[in-house]
Formats: sequence, structure tokens, C-alpha cells
Amino acid sequence: MKTIYCIGELLIDFVAEKQGNDLSKADEFTKKAGGAPANVACAISKLGGNSRFVGCVGRDPFGTFLLNILEENKVDISLAQRSKHFTTLAFVSLAEDGERDFVFSRGADKKLTYDSGVKNGFNGNMVHFGAATALLGGKLEDAYNRYFFDALTKESFISFDPNFRGDLWKGEEEIFVKKCRSFIEKSHLCKFSMEEAQLLSGEDDIEKACDLMHDLGAQIITVTLGGEGTLISTPNLKTTVPSIHVKPVDTTGAGDAFIGCLLYQISTLSKPEVILENSDQLLDMIKKANVAGAVTTTNYGAIPSLPTLDEVENRLS
Ligand code: ATP
Repeated sequence: MKTIYCIGELLIDFVAEKQGNDLSKADEFTKKAGGAPANVACAISKLGGNSRFVGCVGRDPFGTFLLNILEENKVDISLAQRSKHFTTLAFVSLAEDGERDFVFSRGADKKLTYDSGVKNGFNGNMVHFGAATALLGGKLEDAYNRYFFDALTKESFISFDPNFRGDLWKGEEEIFVKKCRSFIEKSHLCKFSMEEAQLLSGEDDIEKACDLMHDLGAQIITVTLGGEGTLISTPNLKTTVPSIHVKPVDTTGAGDAFIGCLLYQISTLSKPEVILENSDQLLDMIKKANVAGAVTTTNYGAIPSLPTLDEVENRLS
């Protein structure tokens, strides 16, 4: 089984207690572990895969809390860093339908420094870049770009999720698009939401948006569509794979559970790249990944709601 390196942020989500209140009205918050790449690392290891997290938290109790959670979920945290800056915080409110509203207070996540030793493990393995905060500049972006270069030179299987957060890029969406495109061009697998696919391609029609991104160089594209399932697009295949029926209470982490489950399945192949040529196997994998995403919406919080492989397989059958 391949190891999957997950690079990006790990942070505290302070989730508003009363669902339906926007952040201006929320007065009680619960502390949860968050950060898309960290959620993906947990999703992979909970399914039985090997994941390593590369990111930075503060040398404070919140940082300790976060690393403990990753460890409890069997993620390898030996490459995680700690900084004198406080752990990054996000304040989140949930609408009645489980959709989220965010405010970020950034700290240690942007202090990740490049470690030239990390690339030694990239050879023949997989690297997932989750970009919610990583493209916002500073040390983290520098480290991120250098790890991307390393993953390319070591011929790792590369996965990219832009994790667009509108409030972090207000008025600078074009810069975000430009930065993401250099990742899209060279990744084996890209995961987008519908909004991201439209923003990154400049095209509203989702199938045309995928074609434009294939023209850029994107190989496998998944566009997650919530309860509708996932649009899978490769140069030879374009179809929507339906999800299962669930009653969602909190959609946090559904996309991370989805991509984590897809990456986990690819990591069991002796050569991950062969998935590019095997449409039937890819469709089966998407079906399973949809179930992982769906199950995650049926409980509160991202990491505690991630399914095991048995849970995914039971729901599928
Ligand atoms: P995030 O913002 O958490 O990264 P996302 O918007 O990328 O998430 P979603 O589309 O909400 O992700 O969910 C990912 C996958 O989980 C979907 O493609 C789908 O397969 C499954 N899923 C999500 N919500 C539901 C639902 N209500 N019913 C069934 N399946 C769902």
C-alpha cells in the first residue's frame, strides 16, 4: 500500500452551537479539529490506509489537541511542525441545511517551513495538496510550491483540491485561479466542488468546465455535487455517479471524506497511475467514495463522522 502525504492546514474549528444562526448571532461555540488536508489524512487512515500529515500548529494547547486527534486517528504526525505563533482558528456557523459560513483567524498554519528531507518519502507514493490557506502567500506557500515540485520530480501520484474559501480571497479571485491552474495542469487527480469548477474554468456549464481543465492538462477530475453524487471526468469518460440516500445534518468534511476514500482506494494499487486507464475500476472507486462522503454528513463534525471501510462497504451493499 502506498503512503499518502497530505500537505496543508490543521486548525481549530469553533463551531456555533445553534444551527441556523449566522456568525453575527452565534454566542456559543464548540471546539473541533479542522483543516481540509488534515481531515483527508484522517479519512485515509480511518479506512485503513497510510497517511502522513505535513503542516504546522502552534506550541499551545490547541496545537497539542489537534496533533493528539491526528495521532488517535493513526495519522503519522512525525513531519508536523510547531511554531511559536498561535494555532490557526476558524469560526464556523451551520445553516439549517448543514451548509457553512466561515471566519478565519490565521496563525501557525502559515508558518510551515520547507523540509528537504520530506521528499525522500515521495518516491512511488502519493501526495495530496489541499489548498484552502496554502496559496495565500508567506512561508506556507513557498513550502507548498517546493513540495509540489518535489512530488513532480519524484513522480508521485499527485492530487489537488483547491478548497476555495470565498472570504479568504475576496476581490482576489483571479490570483487564486492563476495559482490553482499551475497545480491543475500537472496533477493526476483534481477534486472540485461545482462552484470551484466554474470559478477555475470561467465556464458555467460543468461538463464544458471539465473539458477546459482537461485542455489545461488535468487528468482525472471529480466534481462533487452534494446529494446528487459526483461528476467524474477524464479525457475518455464523463458521467455522474449517484450517491446513496442519507439525511444530512452537517456537511462539514463530506468532500474530504470523499477524496480521502478515493485516494485510499488508489493507494492500494501497485501503480496508482494505472487508474487513469481503467474507467470501470475508477467508477467503482467513485461509488465507494460517494458513500464515504454521504455517511460523513449524517453526524456532526468532520473527523468524528468519517467512516471505516466496513461502514462504507455495508452501506454500499
Ligand atoms: P467540502 O466543502 O466539505 O469540501 P464538497 O462541497 O466538496 O465538500 P459535497 O459535494 O458536499 O462536498 O460532498 C462530497 C460527496 O459526498 C458528494 O460528491 C456525495 O457523493 C456525498 N454527499 C454529500 N452530501 C450528500 C447527501 N446529502 N446525500 C448523499 N451524498 C452526499
